[in-house]
Formats: sequence, C-alpha cells, structure tokens
Amino acid sequence: MPTYAYECANPACPSGGVFSATQAMRDDALRVCPHCGGEVARIIRPVGLSAPIGDSDLKGKGFAKLVRRDKGVYENVTALDHESRYYRAGRPETMPDIRLRVGD
Ligand SMILES: [Zn+2]
Repeated sequence: MPTYAYECANPACPSGGVFSATQAMRDDALRVCPHCGGEVARIIRPVGLSAPIGDSDLKGKGFAKLVRRDKGVYENVTALDHESRYYRAGRPETMPDIRLRVGD
C-alpha cells in the first residue's frame, strides 16, 4: 500500500505538523489528524521523492533545470559559466549546452 504525507493544520500537533499514513489507493484521504483530531490535508507527492533537491545538487549531477519565467522564456537556474541564463524559445543558441555537462 502506498504511503501518503499529510500536513496537520494544528500548530500544536504532536506529529510536528507533517506525518505519513499508509493507505490503500481506494481509501479516501484522511480529513482528521490521528494524532490530535485537527484538520489535515494530503500532500500530493510520493513520500519517497519528498527529499528536496537543490539547484546546485542538480547542477552537480549534470542536470539542466529550466524554470518558466514568461511566455517562451525559461531561466536556466543551473546555468554553467558559458551558458545563457535565459533560454528563449526559437533561439537555439540560448539552449542549455548538454555537451558541456558530459565530460566523462
Ligand atoms: Zn494533528
């Protein structure tokens, strides 16, 4: 059965605010905190992938991450020294350079 993460609205909740519960997929999401009876909301993400991955970690692992800033404009938050900070649709020279990342 999958494990879901929940966030409790009660700031004094003994769970510390976030807890996980193993439930069948067909079960409804919890509405009441099993720790304090407060109101809870399911956090929509698999628990196994909940560890935050920072941009510098991604960059160090060879990923390129583009964040949409405007229509057709993406910030390359993992830009290498010689890369353009912004990728603009239709401007291939501003695209992240995969060749720079594949060094070994
Ligand atoms: Zn609670």
